[in-house]
Amino acid sequence: MKMKGFEYLEEELQEMKEYGLFRTLVPIESDQGAKVVINGQEVLQLSSNNYLGLTNHPRMKEAALKSVEKYGAGTGSVRTIAGTFSMHEEFEKKLANFKHTEATLVLQSGFTANQAILSSILTKDDVVISDELNHASIIDGIRLTKAARKIYKHVDMDSLEAALKESGDYRKRLVVTDGVFSMDGNIAPLPAIVELCEKYDALIMVDDAHASGVLGRNGRGTVDHFDLNGRVHIQVGTLSKAIGVLGGYIASTQAVRDYIIHKGRPFLFSTSHPPAVTAACSEAIDILIDEPELIERLWDNAKFLKDGLRALGFETGISETPITPVIVGDGAKAHELSDKLLSHGVFAQGIAFPTVAKGAARVRTIVTATHTKEQLQEALHAFEKCGKELGII
Ligand code: PMP
Repeated sequence: MKMKGFEYLEEELQEMKEYGLFRTLVPIESDQGAKVVINGQEVLQLSSNNYLGLTNHPRMKEAALKSVEKYGAGTGSVRTIAGTFSMHEEFEKKLANFKHTEATLVLQSGFTANQAILSSILTKDDVVISDELNHASIIDGIRLTKAARKIYKHVDMDSLEAALKESGDYRKRLVVTDGVFSMDGNIAPLPAIVELCEKYDALIMVDDAHASGVLGRNGRGTVDHFDLNGRVHIQVGTLSKAIGVLGGYIASTQAVRDYIIHKGRPFLFSTSHPPAVTAACSEAIDILIDEPELIERLWDNAKFLKDGLRALGFETGISETPITPVIVGDGAKAHELSDKLLSHGVFAQGIAFPTVAKGAARVRTIVTATHTKEQLQEALHAFEKCGKELGII
């Protein structure tokens, strides 16, 4: 039944429609594979974060099913009351071991992991220093802290150093960066950030959402990729992308884990992961160890698609990872390219303001280990045809 009261929202939505910026959700009618079914049509999936194809890896499905049989569908409580199962703690120990950190704590999502850590460990006597292109969950986490805030120019070490120099009077300085930036696919210059933080006695936090399972030995992330184990104080990761399931984690010291258990509001006040989620995440870590060829295939596919797009004349920016944006500038045009690609059998989402800056709209592609070269070649043909039709190349 239609209710009155939200006409002001309807007006804004109407404006978005006029500018070609109104989006509807795209329901997938199949499992999350290299190909998916959308509107009854099988199309190539180039938008998912399922980097290694683990969402429906047979071992993952089996682990999830077995745990449902044994422990049921849900946990019935937040972790701090009655919702910690032994499997949660066993998984956290396994994850800490994998990440070479003293401890980890798993939260409902990467988003809430960032909120929990950033909102809790700093006070008004501290300062947080953040890359201007950090993920929205970092920005929102920072909004929740009482600490002072400084933003440095994207991956600009002079700008970071200037912010650190101005921050000497605070009790603690926390520098925060994405490990891999989600819209451009570039890797943070972590060795330089670590050096600066050591020089100015600052703590470092890396959000490794797009590097977990992708970069570093067996997908241990950006810190491992740069051989910086033991020099980065906090790693936040997600279990929702390459790991293929759902969740976020904070990998750090035992003190940080204990502190978040007491003070991290998303941890304290939101119900724990169902057994199937934890069992599948745990299996994923074993798969990362047992099947390193998945990561090799991912990087091989990433190079193939990136080289192909660049050879066709598309602007792919500064990407160094399996995230390859095709930058078109105008938001409506990005959505037009995305729609056209879909009608040619390729699902690659358009991304516009406010997710990226105005004038930097793009179609973002993400390959996975499960794509074949033939499929990627098909995608390149579709990009060529649609790009030419829209005058982008
Ligand atoms: N950080 C970054 C850099 C991300 O890209 C994302 C996912 N969009 C998140 C955090 C949030 O992770 P999750 O989807 O697990 O909440």
